[in-house]
Amino acid sequence: MAVFDGFEPVIGLEVHAQLQTDSKIFCGCRVQYGAEPNSLTCPVCLGLPGALPVLNQRAVEYALRVILAVGGTVRQRSVFARKNYFYPDLPKGYQISQFDKPIGEGGGISFTLEDGSEKTVGLIRIHLEEDAGKSLHPESGEPYTQVDLNRCGTPLIEIVSQPDIHAPEEAYAYLVKLKQLLQYLEVCTGDMEKGHLRCDANVSVRPQGASELGTRTELKNLNSFKHVEKALRFEIERQVGLLTSGSVVEQATLLWNEKTGAAEMMRTKEESHDYRYFPEPDLVNLVVDDAWINDITGAMPELPDRKAARFISEYGIREYDAGVLTDSRPLADYFEAVMAGFDDGQAAANWISTELLASVKESESDIADYPVRPPMIADLLKRIKSGEISGKIAKEVFAEMAATGKEPAAIIKEKGLVQISDESQLEPIIDSILNAHPDNVEKYKSGKTKVFGFFVGQVMKETRGQANPKVVNDLLKRKLDG
Ligand code: ADP
Ligand code: MG
Ligand code: ZN
Repeated sequence: MAVFDGFEPVIGLEVHAQLQTDSKIFCGCRVQYGAEPNSLTCPVCLGLPGALPVLNQRAVEYALRVILAVGGTVRQRSVFARKNYFYPDLPKGYQISQFDKPIGEGGGISFTLEDGSEKTVGLIRIHLEEDAGKSLHPESGEPYTQVDLNRCGTPLIEIVSQPDIHAPEEAYAYLVKLKQLLQYLEVCTGDMEKGHLRCDANVSVRPQGASELGTRTELKNLNSFKHVEKALRFEIERQVGLLTSGSVVEQATLLWNEKTGAAEMMRTKEESHDYRYFPEPDLVNLVVDDAWINDITGAMPELPDRKAARFISEYGIREYDAGVLTDSRPLADYFEAVMAGFDDGQAAANWISTELLASVKESESDIADYPVRPPMIADLLKRIKSGEISGKIAKEVFAEMAATGKEPAAIIKEKGLVQISDESQLEPIIDSILNAHPDNVEKYKSGKTKVFGFFVGQVMKETRGQANPKVVNDLLKRKLDG
């Protein structure tokens, strides 16, 4: 727990996750990022009089997946509510959300902190709602704002945490874990740049040891997890400064300005009664029966922690590697696809977590559409294991695979890269090297065995790295010691 000058921070996060459905939550309009502005709209999402919303079943399914995955409770009869406010990108003048009867409550997110300790942050609620449109402020600074209503009606879930978080780093770790979970569940891409995941942070401070909560502020405009951490640190210090100088914290909403590294006052905090919530008269209650819950529980994908544990027991890999390989579902799937054609888990883990990930990063592609597919990696690894090629040559072959998409066998043949393990082929090379360096041979014989490495290096140079190092070692030893 971080302590700032005798004060303990208290943090609660509100995360909006865009559900990756094909269509919007209350109409059939397509959801698509970057489409021509205002091209994906209809009377329902434009809020034209008389148009009626119809709930998207897939959006509910996705919300249920998340609620069940975090161990929350599904409210089997939940209620949509109108949250009334005016904003140019909200044509109806209200947002359909859920208020006092949300679809999900409770549950928690568990994660590991840098120091290895485990932490669980409880959840207050998970509810369904629609997104608003987008206001576009011209970058050139022209004195007008444009409105794009394509995003109106995009399905969201809001995940509200308990004020269980007590340090900016904990907030960061919570968000990383939550994003990973949403991606594993295939309900949200987690792409913050596209606004698919948004986070508001509530923060207060209290004297260390106090049980009562202090007055909080809410930070908005946090465009990355790192910004969340930075903004929290800033705001905690500001609040501690106010309290230690005898002043008070005023409940407010603050906008984080990444350029200045400061939070700026946006408005003093609105209360929920300001929104005049009332049950949405155009929608019936949302009823989720036991059968639906059972279906979703039955089809739940294997989640990261369990997958990592299985990787350790099934493939015999180290805990650290299991963590790396289960970081994302596509990466975990890739590893398992390699293991379908190869039997040394740790060797595969080593290769994937170093060579392969570096190459994926360099190619700026995603593991899911990376051109070198798992069977090719399995093939390459088998050739290393059998001694056909050395680990060093394998890197060369792999680079070529990544550049051309060719199979390892073709590259090895084309380039003549097969490892030389045949003594009769290596012996003449070694003999000529020993003959060419009588001084070093003398040194070795007089006890300066360090020059052994020199001879190995010469053989490797001569064979362009293709000599089998073990055979070279054996041969050299025999000749020099014998
Ligand atoms: P609102 O409806 O105004 O958004 P909620 O009571 O639903 O308020 O809380 C929103 C978030 O603020 C939650 O994540 C909660 O944990 C957090 N929160 C509430 N009170 C405090 C506080 N005193 N300090 C820090 N976080 C708080
Ligand atoms: Mg709020
Ligand atoms: Zn529509």
